[in-house]
Amino acid sequence: METPKKPAGLALHWKILIGLVLGIAVGLIVNRAWTDATWSALGVNDTSSFIAAGTSMEDSKAEGMPNENAGFVAHSAVFIRNATDFIGDLFMNGLRFIAVPIVLFSLAAGVASLNDTAKVGRIGVKTITIYLATTAVAISVGLVAANLIGPGQGFPEEVREQLAAAEQANADTRIGSAEAQKSRSTWDILLDIFPRNPFGAMAAGNTLQVVVTGLLVGIALTLIPKKDADPVVRVFEGMTRVTIKIVEIVLLIAPYAVFALIVTVIADLGVEVLRKLVAYCLTAVLGLAIMMFVVYPAVLRAFTPVRYGRFFRAISPAQLLAFSSSSSGATMPVTMECVEKRLGVKEDITSFVIPVGATINMDGTALYQGVAAVFIAQMYGLGLTFGDQLTIVLTATLASIGTAAVPGVGIVMLVIVLESVGIPLEGIAVILGVDRIIDMCRTSCNVTGDCMVAAVVGHSEGELLSEADVERAAAGTELDEHPLEEDEVIEARG
Ligand code: ASP
Repeated sequence: METPKKPAGLALHWKILIGLVLGIAVGLIVNRAWTDATWSALGVNDTSSFIAAGTSMEDSKAEGMPNENAGFVAHSAVFIRNATDFIGDLFMNGLRFIAVPIVLFSLAAGVASLNDTAKVGRIGVKTITIYLATTAVAISVGLVAANLIGPGQGFPEEVREQLAAAEQANADTRIGSAEAQKSRSTWDILLDIFPRNPFGAMAAGNTLQVVVTGLLVGIALTLIPKKDADPVVRVFEGMTRVTIKIVEIVLLIAPYAVFALIVTVIADLGVEVLRKLVAYCLTAVLGLAIMMFVVYPAVLRAFTPVRYGRFFRAISPAQLLAFSSSSSGATMPVTMECVEKRLGVKEDITSFVIPVGATINMDGTALYQGVAAVFIAQMYGLGLTFGDQLTIVLTATLASIGTAAVPGVGIVMLVIVLESVGIPLEGIAVILGVDRIIDMCRTSCNVTGDCMVAAVVGHSEGELLSEADVERAAAGTELDEHPLEEDEVIEARG
């Protein structure tokens, strides 16, 4: 058989990486331009009180700044900010547009084509067990790192008070949201997985409910006569291919969107706050790096033939996008595309493992909660016993399941973890200023964990392609109009 030709040009992950690096550079320039020029154009000489109060470009934009007197640099900074916001939002809308149809169609078609309800149950149990186990490992890594490094040890009290005062109002909002979450009992949460109205679930973009809908439709399709099921399955298969093609179209702007998303984040970054919390940030990032680059590859090595380079080459677009968007939910269509098309896990596994993982598997979030809890306890001079740390493992595992796959929710669920062992909630205000940057890293870890589990479950079911097969299948993913199927190509060649 002929070796398929690879698509010409730079690989997608390189393009996204270039977008990311350029975005960081431009973001830093805008950040500086904002703090220096815009403020002075507004006639504010002492910016420290604004910055300490957490006033960002976002707040100022809402107030309609800069005024007519603002200089060229300030106007340019605001223009870049608005333009990048637009491109970033456009891309995120594109991804949200695909999320529900891709889960529904591919899951229903995948389960129906399995034609084996026992296998569906087995895959479900395996997936959820591995997700829970990796989450518990992740928090333990976070706890060990924070205990060994001690980032909160001897943290100056005046810095703590200053940081807490600056973010108090924002922190109170987060704590309020956590209280609302807590008022729901476990029974309510479990009941909420089952949709009352499948169309309502789709309209609300409730991923777990859409997963349940897809599973039920797929199972029912295997239980009705084949002649009735076949046309429906064919429609779902066709729609799956359509949505996957839309993912590929949306991905064409991914490098520009990543650039845009990252400019916005870096432009808003409080560099001063980052400097004060550098030990805490480094501890969290170190823990996340250990999870992503040591623990996951080790599990892969133990249970699958997937090697380091192959894994990261395949999933890097999803990791980079998760990093830029801080949302594993929005990244989900790209994660599915990477796992299926680039890593070679078959569709029936991918379409179950990835959406479920995007909703309940948050290893990075759980790890960060472990680090944050120990950091805050150390900062307030509180000792945590072994029993306390075990409680943190349990509550953070449960809290990470309940964390929505959108930016900034991890810190809301941290409230529940802190309360479980009596750590002061005021600590949340102290770390809030750097939460976005940690969110970017933990979201990458969340997505990496989902991909790893997909590979393990796929291999255990004999549904993981070899690297050569993946490359062969990758040929023909260009945006040709009505490309021929493989058998049609053979026929055309005679
Ligand atoms: N942003 C994370 C995610 O979407 C959740 C969190 O930790 O805030 O995976």
